[in-house]
Amino acid sequence: MNTDPIRLPLILLSALLTLGGCGESTNTPSGAPGFDILLLNGSVYRGGAGRAFESVDVGIRNGEIAYIGNAHADGVDARRRLDATGLIVAPGFIDPHTHALNELRSATANSNLNYLMQGVTTVFTGNDGEGPASLEETIEHLNSNGIGTNAALYVGHGSLRNSVMGGAYRAPTAEELEQMKSLVANAMESGALGLSTGLYYVPGYFAGTDEVIALARVAAEYGGIYDTHLRDESTYNIGLIAAIDEALRIGREARIPVNIAHIKALGVDVWGESARVIERIEQARKAGQRVTADQYPWPASGTHLRNTLLPRAVLAGAGTDYFERLRAPRILAKIRPEMQENLRRRGGAGFVIDHRGGQPGYRRQDTGRDSRRTRRGPDRHGRGHHDRRIHSSRVLQHACR
Ligand SMILES: [Zn+2]
Repeated sequence: MNTDPIRLPLILLSALLTLGGCGESTNTPSGAPGFDILLLNGSVYRGGAGRAFESVDVGIRNGEIAYIGNAHADGVDARRRLDATGLIVAPGFIDPHTHALNELRSATANSNLNYLMQGVTTVFTGNDGEGPASLEETIEHLNSNGIGTNAALYVGHGSLRNSVMGGAYRAPTAEELEQMKSLVANAMESGALGLSTGLYYVPGYFAGTDEVIALARVAAEYGGIYDTHLRDESTYNIGLIAAIDEALRIGREARIPVNIAHIKALGVDVWGESARVIERIEQARKAGQRVTADQYPWPASGTHLRNTLLPRAVLAGAGTDYFERLRAPRILAKIRPEMQENLRRRGGAGFVIDHRGGQPGYRRQDTGRDSRRTRRGPDRHGRGHHDRRIHSSRVLQHACR
């Protein structure tokens, strides 16, 4: 059968399955009384050599894929039969890097439809050091609120540093470090996937490598992983290659698997560096280290304007403390050249888009090319819309690590 995979809509199995098990599917029907659901004649991609897609039937029992084959030939049946002719049958996709937690926590966007409509049925969230310092309350809230996708949570280094040190630009005292370590332990016991950092951001930037190693060791004791937005994806501070080395060192010394988030060579100074980055990661893997990376499939990146342009020292302290500093002409005059240099790093004003969707008085300022590609549309589809799928999803508590 010569099907065109692009044009076929998807049936996403996670809409039907619970994620209670991470079990393997099997080819052998295990006899009467058959399956709960049979998806008939769908196109399934099984990988490996041979045809890209096979036209097969998929049987589901107790929330797990229990059969792949020709139901008619094998004489199997199910309580419910769905004709999947002309459709691709696929597991729901997992997005390993999202900032969906606010939406999941909200009363209006908790169905997470902008992910679901793209086939994402599980999101990792709390990335970049933003995950809650205390997971217990968050998980309770999400479970009672109802969420439209499954969610796996990181404990965020930035959040726990803020809660213990209040945005201070210094190393922690021994006592503060112990407090942060016990917060990591609590979060891991509550079911965190691991520790996330955003060492490029404030307050993660204020942390030395040793502090992160000490905290990652705690996550490692619970079988967690270390997910990091690197200290530098460009030439802002230590440089891209040194930041990769720092992440690898944290993994080695904390004995924890490392995932480098949204790996990229950010800005004009490091374009072309990706080969060196890949080489370093491949070397580490060859040496036996567990290292992975994820990557988004577009050329732009998104963050707050302050993170793009402002020197980190200006951003120290709580919340909007830095507004006052920006109002001081002396400070502004001092940091302006650095901001101009940071804009150059990003490729100049033509590469930066100011986008404040969803806020009162919203105005979008396009300063250059690629604006349509980077425009985000969160919540445009169905903000405030709830459906029954919400209640079949749940927070994953370290189920599939
Ligand atoms: Zn990030």
